[in-house]
Amino acid sequence: MRIDVLTLFPEMFSGVFGTSILGKAAEKGIVDFHVTNFREYSNNKHGTVDDTPYGGGGGMVLKAEPIFGAVEAVTGEAKPRVVLMCPQGKRYNQKLAEEFAREEHLVFICGHYEGYDERIREYLVTDEVSIGDYVLTGGELAAMVIIDSVVRLQPGALGNELSAVTDSFSTGLLEHPHYTRPAEFRGWKVPDILMSGHHANIERWRLKESLRRTIERRPDLLDQIEMTKEIKQLLEELRQEKEQGEA
Ligand code: SAM
Repeated sequence: MRIDVLTLFPEMFSGVFGTSILGKAAEKGIVDFHVTNFREYSNNKHGTVDDTPYGGGGGMVLKAEPIFGAVEAVTGEAKPRVVLMCPQGKRYNQKLAEEFAREEHLVFICGHYEGYDERIREYLVTDEVSIGDYVLTGGELAAMVIIDSVVRLQPGALGNELSAVTDSFSTGLLEHPHYTRPAEFRGWKVPDILMSGHHANIERWRLKESLRRTIERRPDLLDQIEMTKEIKQLLEELRQEKEQGEA
């Protein structure tokens, strides 16, 4: 997979792209990162990339020429998805991470200042994406969040392949609790079932705890999962436990 980032602050990416899972994925050739300063594509000798808005008002607007120039230089004849980081965009989630992870090439545009010339949205980008309902100073941190979540889904990027499959949201539910040694810490014990060695019972317990956690924290997710016979049964058990607890 090739990932291009267009930014005015390329230095922000060296730590993230060179460290941990992302750094290793690049070393193994699973992902190829390219960071471009779109100031290089400014059409004047001062390297200007922004200008005052037509119609007046505060803030500076990113000009169309440098962004179109940079995107066209990194894409050539290819037509990859060009993702504009933008608080007004589609809200990012695991489903979109999985969709992006299937692409061979992605281009991220990181904004700064007040906004973008509207023609960038209309005629250049394929996706506008927000990482949440808050405003950052620039798109760099948002692009890093997205790229991290996409790269870890690439085959071979994670040490333990299973962990991406069972992560929260990948299954449609929040992940079950985890425990490790010691079996007892300050009087708090690990649930017996996890040490029973009975794999089927452990899997059932994990699914049930996953459901319990999802009901408590993100009940909205339950509307989107497939209601298997086992899930229906576990939900019924949880309902009965709640009733007994309240009685
Ligand atoms: N005036 C813009 C608005 O109201 O939509 C906000 C501009 S913001 C200060 C500057 C840049 O930060 C944006 O162009 C975008 O690239 C990035 N940004 C800010 N918040 C973001 C978010 N929640 N998700 C993705 N990118 C964001």
